Amino acid sequence: MKKKYNEVWERCLSIIRDNVHAQSFKTWFEPIIPIKLENDVLTIQVPSQFFYEWLEEHYIGLLKKTIKRELGPEGKLEYSIIMDSYAGPSGPLAISYPTSNQNATKNPYVAMPLDLNKSSSNEIPNPFIIPGLKKIKVESQLVESYSFENFVEGECNRLARSAGYAVAENPGKTAFNPLLVFSQTGLGKTHLAHAIGLQVKSNFPEKTVLYVQTEQFVNQYIESVKNKNQNDFVHFYQMIDVLIIDDIQFLAGKEKTQDVFFHVFNHLHQNGKQLVITCDKPPVELKGMEPRLLSRFKWGLSADLQMPNLETRIAILKQKLYSDGIRIPNDVIDYLAASITTSVREMEGALISLIAQSSLNKKAITIDLARQMIDRFVKNSSKEITIDYIQKVVCDYYGLPIDQIYAKTRKREIVQARQVAMYFAKKHTKSSLATIGQQCGNKDHATVLHACKTVSNLMDTDKEFKASVHRIDQKLMQ
Ligand code: ADP
Ligand code: MG
Repeated sequence: MKKKYNEVWERCLSIIRDNVHAQSFKTWFEPIIPIKLENDVLTIQVPSQFFYEWLEEHYIGLLKKTIKRELGPEGKLEYSIIMDSYAGPSGPLAISYPTSNQNATKNPYVAMPLDLNKSSSNEIPNPFIIPGLKKIKVESQLVESYSFENFVEGECNRLARSAGYAVAENPGKTAFNPLLVFSQTGLGKTHLAHAIGLQVKSNFPEKTVLYVQTEQFVNQYIESVKNKNQNDFVHFYQMIDVLIIDDIQFLAGKEKTQDVFFHVFNHLHQNGKQLVITCDKPPVELKGMEPRLLSRFKWGLSADLQMPNLETRIAILKQKLYSDGIRIPNDVIDYLAASITTSVREMEGALISLIAQSSLNKKAITIDLARQMIDRFVKNSSKEITIDYIQKVVCDYYGLPIDQIYAKTRKREIVQARQVAMYFAKKHTKSSLATIGQQCGNKDHATVLHACKTVSNLMDTDKEFKASVHRIDQKLMQ
């Protein structure tokens, strides 16, 4: 006969499965073993201290809700941890987690829907309440960790980031209203949107800031139609000082909701309130959107986010590790950053899997482990060798800072490093000579051609040089 605790845990898992990404589920929930159920306390066994801390930090909200749902309001969860005997300062992982879980329930992936019904019954001002007389408290739905501090700056996000910052310093008073941030998925729109909200709250605690996903907005509207309290819905949104609406593309084709949003938009804009909008494409490419709404999006500033270059990707990984208090070797970080060129989110996913793998199997995080993991987890990520990766490897090899590649100098070692980088760019990428030249210090195609010839010639005559070029090549192919 199946044990009760097994059944309970299975039911919990089926709820959890619907609320987390498949890969996260595999990584963090499948390895859990339920071991007993006594007085509404379910005990689960987790493979390591790290695992426990990760669950507490990232999934506590979801776990709590699920347990209460299955076991009732008195339901509790206890962990039994298989002790990590290797962990510690000499171990491969040095972890120091903050003990506070305050942020856990604010994880965007377990975002609680804004309970509009609840507030609408007694908190949302009706049209007769004089604005300003009664300030109601709105849960901003902002995630603490998505701050400007944690948002690494790079060429890829300079305009959007600084416009966002300006907006946060002066909401509703800059020319960037609305501020529309667009990019493909996983490049930091949601993070930046939260950062703006957090910064406004810190600058102007009295302002009402609301972050809302467009889907939430749509669902709330549908609910309000059902409950015949559309007015409350509109009034609620009209009293926000800074409205951040994420993934506006979800409004496409939803005419009624667009109409309502149009009114909210106008009201806020006319009253000097700030709108921040994100979108997965440039507004001109948005289909199924009313022209009058689209034209309003153009009133302010549209700024895009690009895929960060290699150096910024490395900085992002280091920043994540730093804020989580984890250390892993630099060559592993470089390897991850170089291998994953699709999105920041995917790169972070790989990092998390790597840490989990290492914790689960009690293996040190090495470049070999990273390679195995990437082969297994990251689909289609046969490593693409890019010009900036080549520049990084070449500069590391010669012990030069990477910006020297672009420097206007005739210093012999720099000229040579640049020529070697051009030689490898020609060999390993499909870029044209002109592109290679442009990315290696704004040189023309003839210079690149000359560099390739020089390197070949020197390899023929100088054995040591030839060996060094081979060593760089091996590093590139790792
Ligand atoms: P999007 O909303 O564009 O799909 P997200 O904002 O969810 O992307 O970003 C995906 C992940 O990448 C998040 O964990 C975010 O913190 C991280 N990220 C993206 N860009 C940066 C950056 N410049 N600095 C730090 N983290 C970043
Ligand atoms: Mg997003």
